[in-house]
Amino acid sequence: MTHSYSSRSSKPTGRRWLLLVLLLVAPLLAMALFRVGPPPGLEITADRPGIGPSTRIDISAVESTRGLSSLTLTLIQGDRQEILVQEDFNPRPFWAFWGSRTQQYDGYVEVGSETLDDLEVGPITLRWTAGRAATWLRHPAPVVRDLELEVDLTPPSLQVTSDQVIIDQGGSAVVVYRVDDTAVRDGVEIDDHFFPGRPLPGSTTAEHFVLFGAPHDGTDSDNIYLTAVDALGNRRSVPCVDIYRSRPMTHDVIELDEGFMAKVVSEIVSQTPDIEAAPDLLSGYLRLNGELRGTNSQQLIELSQTSESRRMWRGAFIQLPNSRVMAPFADRRIYRFEGRDVDQQDHLGFDLASVRKAPVPAANGGRVALARYFGIYGNTVVLDHGYGLMSLYSHLSSLEVEVGQEVAQGDILGKTGKTGLAGGDHLHYSMLLWGMQVNPLEWWDRHWIEQRIAPHVGELLSDG
Ligand SMILES: [Zn+2]
Repeated sequence: MTHSYSSRSSKPTGRRWLLLVLLLVAPLLAMALFRVGPPPGLEITADRPGIGPSTRIDISAVESTRGLSSLTLTLIQGDRQEILVQEDFNPRPFWAFWGSRTQQYDGYVEVGSETLDDLEVGPITLRWTAGRAATWLRHPAPVVRDLELEVDLTPPSLQVTSDQVIIDQGGSAVVVYRVDDTAVRDGVEIDDHFFPGRPLPGSTTAEHFVLFGAPHDGTDSDNIYLTAVDALGNRRSVPCVDIYRSRPMTHDVIELDEGFMAKVVSEIVSQTPDIEAAPDLLSGYLRLNGELRGTNSQQLIELSQTSESRRMWRGAFIQLPNSRVMAPFADRRIYRFEGRDVDQQDHLGFDLASVRKAPVPAANGGRVALARYFGIYGNTVVLDHGYGLMSLYSHLSSLEVEVGQEVAQGDILGKTGKTGLAGGDHLHYSMLLWGMQVNPLEWWDRHWIEQRIAPHVGELLSDG
């Protein structure tokens, strides 16, 4: 030691020795007394106002002096105490100002009947505890944050009140139901597709109703449910279709030729900034027919979320006057090029041919939700008729309305054409329920509306 050299040369007395020892030991003693870790900053939050099937509990801790030492999340309910999270770290020793430490912890845990057995209804405490870095002489008490919540596992009550719900494959139907006011989301759910219910105007018993469609490629009603979910995620689902009728799809083969592909690819790509150029004509065409078709379908679902909660339509929808049906709804198309099957897509509208540049009337009253070049559909108008019901007019040569404009049945929206994925002048007409394409035949049929829609939502449909 360097001290032994200097002490030998200066011949220290006993007092000087003591002073030296004190100078060395005093800071160590001071640190042992006072250099405990400061209280870590703790946070605990829930993503729902209580505990149901699964509530996400976010937990965090921060201590940047000596670092975190131990963290525990404990569930406390009655006599039950269960550790959900346990983390142990190595803080810096009390005498060290260097070395590694963990300054921050962020985690989460799902708490609810899906992750924990025998969860009881009633109050529950989630205790988030952080130990503090200790010294030889001091062991400070841990820091505790409690989150108090209620466990509620009862889903909203839900009863169908419509007499009999009949739906065809690819068709539409309405269901009227009663749901209690704990529900934050209710409607019909079919796989990934959701049709939100709305209060039924004029109902004296606070009923809700929902217009929904059956997928064009479905086979039965097994996956069609009326469902209601509360703020805690408790869900009740009940079947809501009494009679389901299959309507087999039609099949067709489309022969592709280079002239047609060259026309549609160059036009659509020039009008659609997001689409990437393809190495050759066929792959360019397939990208539009597949990828862009999918993107456009998704955009129609997004657009449907802007649908207003008011009925803007009356009676049957009208078909393009003096038109001939070129292709029906739900036509499964095989695309063939040079003798090879290169694609398969389902055509989900009606292709209607009239004279070239025929004026296109609004099929019913509504508000213009979209009026622009729209991917494979070319120049397109979409009308919102309210409560998720929309009609789409595409391949137009001209647009004569603007977004937001209200139109009456028969008002001219534009003229037919062949913009987008179209070979010749025609109108592609679709009807949509919350973005799902449904069979327009039903909506053109006054008797179908009178029998299937009007009796269930009479108050909604009355003109008073
Ligand atoms: Zn079409």
